[in-house]
Amino acid sequence: MKPHNFSIEFFPPKTEEGTEKLRLTRTKLAELNPKYFSVTFGAGGTTQQGTLDTVVEIRKEGFDAAPHLSCVGGTRDSIRQILQTYKDHDIHRLVALRGDLPSGYGMGGEFRYANELVEFIRAETGDWFHIEVAAYPEMHPQAKSPQDDLQNFVRKIQAGANAAITQYFYNADAYFQFVENAQKAGVNVPIVAGIMPITNSSQLMRFSEMCGAEIPRWVRLKLASYGDDSASIKAFGLDVVTQMCERLLAGGAPGLHFYSLNQAAATTAIWKRLV
Ligand SMILES: Cc1cc2nc3c(=O)[nH]c(=O)nc-3n(C[C@H](O)[C@H](O)[C@H](O)COP(=O)(O)OP(=O)(O)OC[C@H]3O[C@@H](n4cnc5c(N)ncnc54)[C@H](O)[C@@H]3O)c2cc1C
Repeated sequence: MKPHNFSIEFFPPKTEEGTEKLRLTRTKLAELNPKYFSVTFGAGGTTQQGTLDTVVEIRKEGFDAAPHLSCVGGTRDSIRQILQTYKDHDIHRLVALRGDLPSGYGMGGEFRYANELVEFIRAETGDWFHIEVAAYPEMHPQAKSPQDDLQNFVRKIQAGANAAITQYFYNADAYFQFVENAQKAGVNVPIVAGIMPITNSSQLMRFSEMCGAEIPRWVRLKLASYGDDSASIKAFGLDVVTQMCERLLAGGAPGLHFYSLNQAAATTAIWKRLV
């Protein structure tokens, strides 16, 4: 089953070579006809220009694109300026986040949490933007408890978010439980499942450690057993992630958002297998 609501995430390239590579990746992924592409935003504004440039380029190619906007370290003035720039470029879609500054930087800035950012965007720009926020089926790593995290998620929706995209996960039950609990708490916006293809086990372990996504034991053991055999890792990853996507869609997930890491092959392979 192919989802109607299908989006693909990039990060803004830092070099000319990376920019060229992303253009090629995009040409391939455009064939899948996603609803939109999104482009991450380095916390503290580190990729502000790169995010904008990438979004503008995608839009020139005729695709919708959403910049992410993280508020940590930002001030009302700096965020207001960014919102105005997005409006000037006729951008109507945003992914609104708190972001994480590198350890040792503290939080800084005038926003503490993403709900404050969403509130600010609505107060400043009304309904101009379609706003998506982050959701954590396996709990955000800094949250006090799953219940607390859910309440904080609800705050972002109440502040005016139109939809949510989840952190990636490999346990569909965690997603279904989260959606059910969110709905019981009054949330009725789409909660799109974030999907991370599996292509490289050490990178996956590192990312998952940082963001709190659990790799099921059996998946970890299988990946470890393949050692450096990249072809087997990719083939296994493709099976595991495709089967999970099928389950998510059959169980009512309103869409899929692929963390592409600026690579086309894995997202394309999963997409083609979803019939
Ligand atoms: C789809 C998606 C896209 C992402 N894109 C980016 C990106 O482009 N750039 C980037 O830097 N990072 C990005 N991230 C990572 C994200 O910034 C981190 O996960 C960050 O730690 C939390 O951001 P948030 O918006 O979910 O924060 P919040 O919703 O503010 O939550 C952060 C923590 O604070 C708690 N909390 C929230 N509100 C309150 C409150 N009012 N009172 C008390 N506690 C509260 C929550 O329970 C949680 O533990 C993305 C994550 C996802 C899932």
